[in-house]
Amino acid sequence: MTDAPTNIKARQADQTLELTWQDGSVHEITYHKLRAECPCAACRNEWTGERILDPMTIRPDLKLEGMEPVGAYAVRLAWNDGHSSGLFTWDTLLLLGQNSTKIDAESTQSEA
Ligand SMILES: [Zn+2]
Repeated sequence: MTDAPTNIKARQADQTLELTWQDGSVHEITYHKLRAECPCAACRNEWTGERILDPMTIRPDLKLEGMEPVGAYAVRLAWNDGHSSGLFTWDTLLLLGQNSTKIDAESTQSEA
């Protein structure tokens, strides 16, 4: 179980969510990636994990309209495309952040 980040900052201008973790590491995840990786049942098959949402349909002017804490383990993100059913656990955010950072650092990394 991942501890909650100490800080979450929504940078609307560059469409990036900035997360600061308890060990001091900082991750940046683009809105587009978060929206594409939305774990809700409408965007992802609950059983197979297969993505239902086509990332090509995500609007380029994507904005975060709200962040609502869910218990002590997750945050619900609301987008300006009207979608707000995605619950992102700290585990999910940590994983996405690590992947984003890795892809930036190693441009040869292919999506597994
Ligand atoms: Zn969703």
